[in-house]
Amino acid sequence: MNKDIFLTNNLSNKKEKFVPIDKNKIGMYVCGPTVYDDPHIGNARPLVVFDILFKVLKCKYGDKSINYIRNITDVDDKIIKSSQENNISISDLTKKIIKNFNDDCNFLNCENPSSEPKATEHIDLMINMISDLINKNFAYVNNEHVYFEVSKFKDYGKLSNKKLEDLIAGSRVEVSENKRNPEDFVLWKPSNGNEPFWSSPWSKGRPGWHLECSAMAKKFLGNEFDIHGGGIDLLFPHHENEIAQSICANSTKVFANYWVHNAFITMSNEKMAKSQGNILKISDFKKKVSGQVLRFALMSAHYKQPLDWNEKLLNDCKNTLDKWYEVYSSLKTPSKIPDDMLLPLYDDLNTPGYIANLHDLFDKASKGDENNRNIFVSACNFIGLLSETKNQWQDFKKKKSLISEEEILTKIDLRNKARKTKDYDEADKIRKELLDKDVLIEDKNGKTVWKFK
Ligand SMILES: [Zn+2]
Repeated sequence: MNKDIFLTNNLSNKKEKFVPIDKNKIGMYVCGPTVYDDPHIGNARPLVVFDILFKVLKCKYGDKSINYIRNITDVDDKIIKSSQENNISISDLTKKIIKNFNDDCNFLNCENPSSEPKATEHIDLMINMISDLINKNFAYVNNEHVYFEVSKFKDYGKLSNKKLEDLIAGSRVEVSENKRNPEDFVLWKPSNGNEPFWSSPWSKGRPGWHLECSAMAKKFLGNEFDIHGGGIDLLFPHHENEIAQSICANSTKVFANYWVHNAFITMSNEKMAKSQGNILKISDFKKKVSGQVLRFALMSAHYKQPLDWNEKLLNDCKNTLDKWYEVYSSLKTPSKIPDDMLLPLYDDLNTPGYIANLHDLFDKASKGDENNRNIFVSACNFIGLLSETKNQWQDFKKKKSLISEEEILTKIDLRNKARKTKDYDEADKIRKELLDKDVLIEDKNGKTVWKFK
């Protein structure tokens, strides 16, 4: 399409026209998972958001013009802690979580990025980058650690709009007696005991987390590239630190030209995060809903807006897909999607605007015209919807319609009444009935909770 793509760039905090460095070789780097635990719905949002951006860029510039890199952080303090707590080796843990992560990406119908480099396979590049930073006097060694000296980079804080004084005053920085200044951040640290380590000129140790993205972006996309993405929680300090490291090590003016961040997923308007204890893992949904429903829910709000996650959202998405599948027919060749239809996606990935266009197109398609029907299915397929055949969709529904949520709650109520009157045979019978329908129940702090097996 002959229209421009616009993106909100956090460097300027404005919506800007996207102008690639080289339209035949567009680079996009998105921070990927730290593989210490199974991905949750909050992690799923950037997967879907940047998958859609990948598709939009390919649509405009051609399939072969986009190099989409998403790293895997497989060395990190959280991984070490989780391996110790769960008594599993680091390599077994990271292998298991990477597999689950890939399964979840498939479940959400996300395309594979062009490359998914692992941090542990690029330690040599990170050591080189640290050496460069030390030689150029942006980093210093102290007591087997290497730190980046933040005050040496005058643009620090530009992306997140933070001033150095505020950072120090707000104690957003980790204090350590090895640092010259509290705001400096670690590039290399020694490993002790049975922590994983690599040899380096400074100590047997491992890199700081921020460094891997700078090193791998350089390898796969060069010193300067087009788009850097991730969740808004990465804006500071992670992305700020990536910029400082890369610009200083590579002696460039910019690192990435466009910084794109998706907002949080909330539950009852609170951020979903492991530390908040309110996470829902993607795998928890696999027996309850089709991945299509999850994908649809994740694109139902604009990527810059928080998305509140609740049962009603999932039900609405499921009902819409049910309706849309009524006109589904598999396509031999996809139809061309009209420019007007695509415009919202070109305009800062406005997925709700695109979904509104899909509703209009559905109304036309449901009147029986085959051409409209083909355009509708093609337009859904474009953003990864209606990717299952009608049979797959209905099979899933059949499987899930063994019991409704309402029936489950009624049964739980009956079981609790039976327990109150000490009719334990009846209570056990109900528990077994639910189990036969793949519903597991558990009594926790005076409440009964349930989930699909
Ligand atoms: Zn990163």
